[in-house]
Amino acid sequence: MGGTFDPIHIGHLILGESAYEQFGLDRVLFMPSGNPPHKTKRHGASNSERAEMVRLAIGNNPHFELSLEEMHEQGYIYTKETLRRLRMRNPDTDYYFIMGADSLVTFHMWNGPQEICDQCVLVAAVRDQMAEKDLDEAIRSVRERFHADVRKLSSPNLDISSHTIRQWRSEGRSIRYYVTDPVVNYIYENGIYERL
Ligand code: ATP
Ligand code: MG
Repeated sequence: MGGTFDPIHIGHLILGESAYEQFGLDRVLFMPSGNPPHKTKRHGASNSERAEMVRLAIGNNPHFELSLEEMHEQGYIYTKETLRRLRMRNPDTDYYFIMGADSLVTFHMWNGPQEICDQCVLVAAVRDQMAEKDLDEAIRSVRERFHADVRKLSSPNLDISSHTIRQWRSEGRSIRYYVTDPVVNYIYENGIYERL
């Protein structure tokens, strides 16, 4: 699962756990993407803070793993290249790329969607109260366009985003339970998202 994880929240964790369970995966890799210095948002968390929050959030789950595969400080993240590298290293492993519906809807605009589809199974979950039929339509479209193996995750809509958490934190509102306790503590101790 790729993402900015700024910060990682229970939506990400439940997404990973559901995929693990429904598709009988061995492990779930959380791959925070690096922000090139010129693109770093002024008041978000740094690359190392985002990676550390992932590490803290997944620490007690033996089949979750932090991967720094997409944590490049320079340039852009190309999932097609990440997959190529992972598959070269582990040729006997099948990869599933886990995403929310919002990512699936813009998937055709990613760099090299065909190469991505040739290298993995896509797993998509409902998000933002998207109607079931709209998610089905998005899945059908990616399947047809890229001859892709796209699977739907049957998970409940989890109405949470990193954006909301950053916003709440900056307003002094509680973010507890949307984010795991170690991550809440880390955000407080390091003064992250206090001003947006
Ligand atoms: P932001 O609000 O900053 O965009 P985000 O909550 O969307 O953050 P990302 O790091 O952008 O989190 O998301 C990483 C991946 O996790 C994406 O594929 C996204 O669709 C998925 N995802 C994030 N939150 C949820 C959620 N609540 N339900 C389902 N999928 C989610
Ligand atoms: Mg997002």
